[in-house]
Amino acid sequence: MIKYRSLLEITKPYKVVAADVAEGKINHCYMLTGDDKVAIDGLITLMSEKILCDKGGCGECVTCMKIEDGNHEDVFEPKNLKAEGIREFVEQVYIKPNGKYKIMIIRELDKVDAKVQNFLLKSLEDPVDNVVFLLGAEKQTAVLETIKSRSKKLAVLPFSRYALEDYFAKRTQEYPNRALVKESVDCCLGSLTRCEELIKDEEYASDLTNVIFVLKDMTSTKDNLRMQQRLGVADGKLARYLDMMQLIAGVLLKKAAGIRVDGFEKVNCLKDVFNIPALVNFNSLIIEAKRKLESNCKESYVLDNLFIKLMEVKYLCR
Ligand SMILES: [Zn+2]
Repeated sequence: MIKYRSLLEITKPYKVVAADVAEGKINHCYMLTGDDKVAIDGLITLMSEKILCDKGGCGECVTCMKIEDGNHEDVFEPKNLKAEGIREFVEQVYIKPNGKYKIMIIRELDKVDAKVQNFLLKSLEDPVDNVVFLLGAEKQTAVLETIKSRSKKLAVLPFSRYALEDYFAKRTQEYPNRALVKESVDCCLGSLTRCEELIKDEEYASDLTNVIFVLKDMTSTKDNLRMQQRLGVADGKLARYLDMMQLIAGVLLKKAAGIRVDGFEKVNCLKDVFNIPALVNFNSLIIEAKRKLESNCKESYVLDNLFIKLMEVKYLCR
């Protein structure tokens, strides 16, 4: 069973490949781009089924089952992303498929060294009949231009909150904690990967609420200690709080710039507290705090310092 099948089937990348298959015009290379790894993985499997299954990707026949179990004889993935793994993988291109097509998959092409990516070039420049590459890449800048230009690029965009809510509403047995699912959908910004992480993380919502509370209510230095206690970094949670702050700053910046954000309503109470210059400054403060934390500064010191500077920023940008 491909998780999220019904959601993935309504995405543009899937529809593009389905249309190409229907018209008999399958491209020799598709590249899925975006940072939602769960969605990209699911789409690659679904597209393989679409291309190889006689019933157009039914998800039930032997072909589809084999693809989902990772043991179909015409579907290949490198055993590792190093030179030797990719070289061995490329050799497979020139061996005839057992059935009508051979599917060559690299899920994280951006993690393959640029020099090693070159091994792929020949098979993309002179496409081999009946061989289809399905590539995934989060960081497009890490993929060779020559590969990009020979691929049909398909951007995997965030899912709408409505689509996610609808998906989970039909699966209450699998996801019995409705409140947790609701919070996760609201805070995942349309990413299945993030949504999955949040559903597993029962403390996320309350931690996020605390962070938002602190950012909103901290107005003078005399609040500093009280606010630090509210966040409680003694348990090694500072890195997590900093990630949340960075996310909040990012979302607020988008909202302030008039870019539509589907969800994350919780942060709206901060709209009047931080204007755009304050958000930009806040973001650099978080980056600085993260750097200090990585160089093993004491957590309480990092937080104290961040709060003092944050109050300055809030004051100056009023
Ligand atoms: Zn099938």
